[in-house]
Amino acid sequence: MKFIEEEIANLRENHLFRRLNRMDGSQVPWTAVNGKPCLLLSSNNYLGLTDHPELKSAATEAVARWGTGTGGSRLTTGNFSLHEELESAVARFKGTEAAIVFNSGYMANAGAITALAGKKDVILSDELNHASIIDGCRLSGAKIVRFKHNDVKSLKDLLAQYKGRRRLLVTEGVFSMDGDTAPLAELRDLAQAFSLIFIVDDAHGTGVLGPGGRGTVAAQQIPTEGLILTGTLSKALGSLGGFVAGAGVLIDYIVNHARPFIFTTALPAASAAAALAALEILEDEPEILKLLWENVNRMYKGLTASGFAVAKTSPIIPLILGSPERALRLAGHLLERGYYVPAIRPPAVPRGTARLR
Ligand SMILES: *Cc1c(COP(=O)(O)O)cnc(C)c1O
Repeated sequence: MKFIEEEIANLRENHLFRRLNRMDGSQVPWTAVNGKPCLLLSSNNYLGLTDHPELKSAATEAVARWGTGTGGSRLTTGNFSLHEELESAVARFKGTEAAIVFNSGYMANAGAITALAGKKDVILSDELNHASIIDGCRLSGAKIVRFKHNDVKSLKDLLAQYKGRRRLLVTEGVFSMDGDTAPLAELRDLAQAFSLIFIVDDAHGTGVLGPGGRGTVAAQQIPTEGLILTGTLSKALGSLGGFVAGAGVLIDYIVNHARPFIFTTALPAASAAAALAALEILEDEPEILKLLWENVNRMYKGLTASGFAVAKTSPIIPLILGSPERALRLAGHLLERGYYVPAIRPPAVPRGTARLR
């Protein structure tokens, strides 16, 4: 146990030790953390759907019909018509031919990337990409080349240097820790010009950006043809799960090659039904997005008036503070005053950029 104790002591010393804060209720705006009543300012529950009556009743009805577990992988006994219905709805929502659902967004990225790239291949990955993308890249065994955040020119220079059997380009739509968006039109042009496989992970854009919350690709009016879209059902859609959306032949390939899809038990009915209900709500009541964006505007105006340089691209607004100690201290002060804004520290963000978000 000695190395473990040393590592824990080391984390504490550097203000990087993590402990779990206990939520005392659901993801509603006014809640309590560790028994302290507070305003929740950091949840990914962008549209309040985790507590929407229609999602709750869809989940309960699904449990009544399908049970709590799925009994097997999608390829054995776990494939319900409910999953297929959800997948058609995701494909319709994202404007693609087909989609396939995973048990989380993390697994969707790991599954898509490992299915598409192997040892002989090169993956070009934005330096600020999410851990699930990074882990998918590592697991694939491909050569990983990180390019400067959102920098199409540096990416182009790297393309001249790195050749492989196949080359993948992977970026987030909305970046999860910075809240900015990728220049998708330019990236898509480059992907076409250089025959790159192009994956866009829109975990934070889905249900948030673009007409009807269709995501960053829709917001930037990019045709989905040739794109591979990944995302999550766990954030704005108020459920749990992930997806890959794209051409029908791609989805067939994923079903046959993505180990995080094949070797795990299928998503439970409650989660699938809740996500399906969320997509129906977005389709029928796109005005549900209005309140979110009013809140974004309000936060943006308040922070700007208080002298913070922030952007209004997405609901993710980072206040970069630098050291983990500083971020922790401010998060602590805010919680005392009734605002829950957790400190985000390395390795979730690069060193020297600890923040409130
Ligand atoms: C949250 C997130 C994921 C993972 O989604 P889960 O459903 O929570 O596993 C993947 N990519 C990005 C960019 C994320 O922010």
